Amino acid sequence: MVTAPETKRAARLPIKDEWGFFGIRFESIGGYGAHIAGRMLAEAGVVYMGFNGSNFSSYGSEKKGSPVKAYVRFCDSDQEVRTSAPIEEPHVIAVFHEALIHTQPVAAGLREDGTIIVNTRKSPEEIRELLGLEYGTVATVDAITIAVEEKTRVNTAMLGALCRVVPFIDPEAVKAVIRDTFGKKYPHTVPGNLRTFDRGYESVRMMTITPKPGFVREPYRRPDPPFGYLNAPIGGLVLSAGNSIVKDLSASRQGYLPAFDREKCIDCAQCDIVCPDYCFVWEKGTDKKGRPAMVLKGIDYQYCKGCLKCVEACPTGALQEKLEEDGWAKAHRVPRFALPA
Ligand code: SF4
Ligand code: SF4
Repeated sequence: MVTAPETKRAARLPIKDEWGFFGIRFESIGGYGAHIAGRMLAEAGVVYMGFNGSNFSSYGSEKKGSPVKAYVRFCDSDQEVRTSAPIEEPHVIAVFHEALIHTQPVAAGLREDGTIIVNTRKSPEEIRELLGLEYGTVATVDAITIAVEEKTRVNTAMLGALCRVVPFIDPEAVKAVIRDTFGKKYPHTVPGNLRTFDRGYESVRMMTITPKPGFVREPYRRPDPPFGYLNAPIGGLVLSAGNSIVKDLSASRQGYLPAFDREKCIDCAQCDIVCPDYCFVWEKGTDKKGRPAMVLKGIDYQYCKGCLKCVEACPTGALQEKLEEDGWAKAHRVPRFALPA
């Protein structure tokens, strides 16, 4: 928890919930920098703007690509932050990858006057449709393209977008913290991160949804855990063996994926040896001399997290690093398992 020093000016929040807080939730995945973005935002609000506040994150497993939630709470400078409970009904939700919409209830609990910002190339209207949202404001920003072009990460672009939709957060305060944070250890990254922030701020697109007459927002309901002491299988049995085949790691990719060229492939399997996620799909065929052999059919992008180790390992250039375009992975995916639709 970070607390404003007594010498600081009094700061008042223009918008707050029934407990006096303004809440922000980041929906992200490991490797996107959501935790540090939350810390920088909290520091900007507390150290540079005079609010009291706190930030913390909750992680799943340690593996890069697992869902991560980061939270930031602000309150008036004369109020204390005496909670570190997850923010279930936030004013702002920032979704660090569009693919999370398909795997996580990212918009859960958004307040009536709240805003959800999504890192995507889609329009706010398309994202509203995907979310099925009937109220609030939808904002979009193509943070991944900005980060790729500036050789940074999406987190500073998302912070820029967030400053645009939350008018009381001073962009200059956040930029000061970006300079403080990156300047100490990696000064060469400061200009790129500041440009990323500015481009995120400038390129936000927004739409406000007018709720239908009589619309009443459902109060947030915490999901029940699937198992408790009454229904947990005895001995911790895994009842759905092989369930990792339904995992989707698409959200872990940070702008790039491997593109496969069958013509250049010699079926040496170097790619398969280095791939950490079992993405390569093989089938029975014949080698150049007509003898029975396994031949590489393609890549199942559902499991590909874009680490590009396979591209490094490939001796013939049959795998090339490619900037991911919307829908490309789906169109070129070779399914590894036959799953029900
Ligand atoms: S980039 Fe290549 S090595 Fe990495 S997960 Fe995807 S297919 Fe596997
Ligand atoms: S490493 Fe390259 S050449 Fe070898 S099997 Fe993989 S794609 Fe084909």
